Amino acid sequence: MRKIVIDLAELKKLGELNRDKNIKFRMFLKSRDGKSLDENVHKLYEKISEQIDCTRCGNCCINLSPPLTNKEIDILSRHLNISSKEFEDTYIELDEENCKCLSKIPCIFLKDKICSVYEIRPTECAEYPYLHKKGFSSRLLGVIENYSVCPIVFNVYEELKILYNFR
Ligand code: SF4
Ligand code: SF4
Repeated sequence: MRKIVIDLAELKKLGELNRDKNIKFRMFLKSRDGKSLDENVHKLYEKISEQIDCTRCGNCCINLSPPLTNKEIDILSRHLNISSKEFEDTYIELDEENCKCLSKIPCIFLKDKICSVYEIRPTECAEYPYLHKKGFSSRLLGVIENYSVCPIVFNVYEELKILYNFR
């Protein structure tokens, strides 16, 4: 396996530089067998995520706005000792699909690169960057977006290019 990249400035630069290639690779992956692609992604995810310490990164919480369910809004507002309405008025905005998302970037719960509500964090946060899930090929647009944000996604995508001999 190549040396993994964890430098966030490097990731951003390579995200712009490799954008066209990443889109072509997306088309290539969409023509592969989805089941074996998922198996390869799961193995790479396991191998790469154990080499990356999220508590020294936090870049997803600095750049993304996770969608919350009403139940999660209740839980987080109770944590802050405010009403759900106050929480929504202050910290929530609707995205283009009308989902209620945390509006402040970086996330208000991020303290020194660590989630201060880790035990009660929203499901979307717990599942990010989604590489343990099935259906990788149906989420490739999001993968390309996350390629320049998350070192785990970046390195999994680069390893896939090598595995599938994509140039
Ligand atoms: S709730 Fe926690 S995990 Fe989710 S974005 Fe905020 S700091 Fe990150
Ligand atoms: S999931 Fe990715 S972006 Fe988020 S903290 Fe971990 S390595 Fe960083």
